[in-house]
Amino acid sequence: MSTHIEHRPPVLIAGGGPVGMITALALARQGIPVRVLEAEDRVDDNPRAATTHAATLEMLAELGLVDEVMARGLIEPKFRIWDRASRELIVEFDFGVLAHDTRFPYVVQCEQHKLANMAISHLLDFAHAKIDFSTRVVAVQQFDDRVEVEVEAVGGARTVSGCYLVGADGGRSTVRKALGIEFEGYTHPERFLILTTPFSFDAAYAQCSRNYFSDPQEWCALFKVTGDDGKGLWRLLFPTRPQESDREALQEDAAQRRLQSFFPRRGSYPIVHRNLYNVHQRVAASFRRGRVFLAGDAAHVNNPLGGLGLNFGIHDAVELAGLLGRVLRGEAPPSILDDYDRLRRPLNVEYVQQQTIANKKRLEEKDPALRAQSNDALRRIAGDPAAARAYLLRASLIESVRKRAAASAA
Ligand SMILES: Cc1cc2nc3c(=O)[nH]c(=O)nc-3n(C[C@H](O)[C@H](O)[C@H](O)COP(=O)(O)OP(=O)(O)OC[C@H]3O[C@@H](n4cnc5c(N)ncnc54)[C@H](O)[C@@H]3O)c2cc1C
Repeated sequence: MSTHIEHRPPVLIAGGGPVGMITALALARQGIPVRVLEAEDRVDDNPRAATTHAATLEMLAELGLVDEVMARGLIEPKFRIWDRASRELIVEFDFGVLAHDTRFPYVVQCEQHKLANMAISHLLDFAHAKIDFSTRVVAVQQFDDRVEVEVEAVGGARTVSGCYLVGADGGRSTVRKALGIEFEGYTHPERFLILTTPFSFDAAYAQCSRNYFSDPQEWCALFKVTGDDGKGLWRLLFPTRPQESDREALQEDAAQRRLQSFFPRRGSYPIVHRNLYNVHQRVAASFRRGRVFLAGDAAHVNNPLGGLGLNFGIHDAVELAGLLGRVLRGEAPPSILDDYDRLRRPLNVEYVQQQTIANKKRLEEKDPALRAQSNDALRRIAGDPAAARAYLLRASLIESVRKRAAASAA
């Protein structure tokens, strides 16, 4: 697999989240020296992404990670959308209808910190891959032949140079700001509260571990993940109310009230984790400036309904590593790097922004007539095998990958 590109300065990667680590792995496997600069001293294990879609599983298979992701995750072919007030099942979708489109006709629920740590353990196999934890990128400068970043690390400030820089440093990206690239879009007024409990919803939701509950007052999403010990945890996601402060939303009493009103039970819920997230729909005005690229949340952020943000970020990583590999091996001119911004930015808008905005709107719709219309439309799609397949090809990002491939072939 690897063709060593000897003695080259490394590709620098700012940010060692899942996208940074996957970018590094995809480059290192081609023999390209990489250096990851991560601000924190370890991978962040706050609960965020878990849903890994078919198109992404195919890429993780190419990177030698899919078996471990499946072993440490939970395979789920279905997802369900309910009406929260009536507890009526509106619709069930089954990725099994994609059996002829992918060898992974399901999602795997595998927490993102596990994925990042798996990538790290594979990176350790490569002498030309280096990871600097506790190293924060604070400034970026680029020249005709190199990029220089200033970092703050334990020993003090220093300059690190490389041939290219990938900004995979998350939604608040220092790299994006240093380049002066606008983060276009908007921030939702509410925040999303995530509560994690070991209480088992298996009895109530045995046949499906991915559930969305539509409700004009307070929608909810309920998912199962395996947890670090493999015993299983359930995550519940709620929007905060207008005027509800962070402190109020996170308080034990308020969290218990939310859980009890969702699913009443005798006794309180054990809550092992709670967190609030700002939620945005934003896309960087450009994914590239010269020798510097943006990937993952640094380039685009979206609400988590549909589980698409990290998936698309991993697709960024694989695409960018492929393009850089061809240029660094001299197989293609640097002009092919223009494809990265030219193709990925519109794909994000079409497949990630549009779908997540529509998913949120559907769950929170207040107008009864529009709710009924939207539910009927979903039922019609689910009831028609061709329409269900088309819907799931989009939801699994397979269609976006095919569209990208078609652009190369054209
Ligand atoms: C509640 C929730 C649920 C979600 N569920 C899903 C899901 O199911 N599926 C899905 O696809 N997506 C989901 N997402 C989105 C997903 O979490 C993000 O898309 C993902 O974290 C992006 O990964 P990243 O590596 O780009 O950025 P991050 O995970 O934010 O990592 C960025 C890294 O950069 C580091 N860093 C920051 N600044 C600097 C600096 N200046 N120098 C060096 N390092 C720096 C940070 O410490 C961090 O390690 C969810 C998000 C939320 C909030």
